Amino acid sequence: MSRADRELRDGILAYLRKHHSGLCRHWFDDISVIGIEGGVLRLVMEDEVRRRYLQRSAAPAFAEAAQTVTGRLLAVRFLASKTGSPAIDRADGTNADGSEPPVSLDDQMILSPDFSFDQFVMGPENRLAHAAAQAVADRPGRAYNPFVIHGGVGLGKTHLLQAVCQAVLSRQPSTRVTYINCSTFIDAFHDCVKAGRMPEFRNRFRMVDMLVIDDVHLLSRHEQTQEEFFHTFNALHQAGKQIILSADSIPNEIPALTERLVSRFNSGLVARVDRPGFETRVAIVKAKAQLHQLTLPEDVPAYVAARVASNIRELEGALARLRALALATARPIDLDLAKLALADEGRPDDERSPSIQTILEAVVRYYNLRLADLLGKRRHKSVALPRQVAMWLARRHTRHSLEEIGGHLGGRDHSTVLHAVRTVDHRRERDPTLSSDVARLERSLERRHATE
Ligand code: ADP
Ligand code: MG
Repeated sequence: MSRADRELRDGILAYLRKHHSGLCRHWFDDISVIGIEGGVLRLVMEDEVRRRYLQRSAAPAFAEAAQTVTGRLLAVRFLASKTGSPAIDRADGTNADGSEPPVSLDDQMILSPDFSFDQFVMGPENRLAHAAAQAVADRPGRAYNPFVIHGGVGLGKTHLLQAVCQAVLSRQPSTRVTYINCSTFIDAFHDCVKAGRMPEFRNRFRMVDMLVIDDVHLLSRHEQTQEEFFHTFNALHQAGKQIILSADSIPNEIPALTERLVSRFNSGLVARVDRPGFETRVAIVKAKAQLHQLTLPEDVPAYVAARVASNIRELEGALARLRALALATARPIDLDLAKLALADEGRPDDERSPSIQTILEAVVRYYNLRLADLLGKRRHKSVALPRQVAMWLARRHTRHSLEEIGGHLGGRDHSTVLHAVRTVDHRRERDPTLSSDVARLERSLERRHATE
């Protein structure tokens, strides 16, 4: 970089940190400027995933910054190398010759540079999934195939899936990797069926070295797509190509998933990610702060981690609120500011959530039952539904695992609890009586808890 380019780059970054701090990442320091040509400011980011992130999510902010700093009307372009790489020609989703790609699925291959192994914090709750993901990235097709990660929302499934993709691509850029969310896969399938373009669809998914499908539980009840996916799966698996999937539960518990797919999914390694404990949450807050170049005083990460226990996405949300408040009030981040920013989070979670005992008592009283019936074996619907509601409330309002909840409800196993949670979730949307029962129970728990 020439001196002028360096100054321009520094000026742009300073502007972005001030006005678009949410967008900034520590690795923005690796961006270089290689001059302005025909009204276009040319920036270089060699890493392809990062370059795509910049072009896709940050280009308008960079243009605004460049215009402010130079006082000129400018567009920006992110190049992969100083000489200009052909990759940029496809940044907008068209082919090099300007034509539309056959199935515009290549646009779906959007990986977040934040979701790399470097940025993944390991803890006892995700150790197996993390280790297996690394093994798969090291030896695609040979370590575990398929590799399935399952767990609740916001626990790092997408992060790990994308980390594998990025590790494989950075080591072997020519690998044909397809990462896609299952809902996009389903939509693409229906579109291609309608348009009579099935051969193209098959080509698209069977001519890859690695197929990564996120949220595969969405296949539930999509029989035709399941059928097609079954054949895709077999074709890839037989050819020794790596398949990686994520789901919100173990394969056996994905509703209406055909038996043969369940058995395919179970034929490799199925690893679970659990809710992070306190120590892991503290480490994650620190890592996210660093990624966003926030300096946190020693006591703040522990405070945030104690307040927000549900999942990691919420933890990030809390940190974003803290950052926004610091900006808005022009105050440095400290414990007082953190308390202010997280005031809505309520009390620390140990105090905040009711105990399972409290929930059982509330349910028994509300439905006018005996505790022994609620915990007992009878399946009559007069007790079966209240029992499911109790499980649902326990899942929603306590931090206990499915197993623990089952344990408190007369020794039922975790799949029974999972089934109950899903049933209540599903029925609540359709059954106004149930929905109002549940809402009243929740209010009574809040009141009871507030006076405890
Ligand atoms: P899921 O796909 O399981 O719903 P995500 O992978 O989208 O969850 O994770 C939600 C957010 O939490 C993402 O921003 C992700 O980077 C972050 N996250 C999850 N687990 C970890 C971890 N172990 N270390 C760092 N960040 C994590
Ligand atoms: Mg996800």
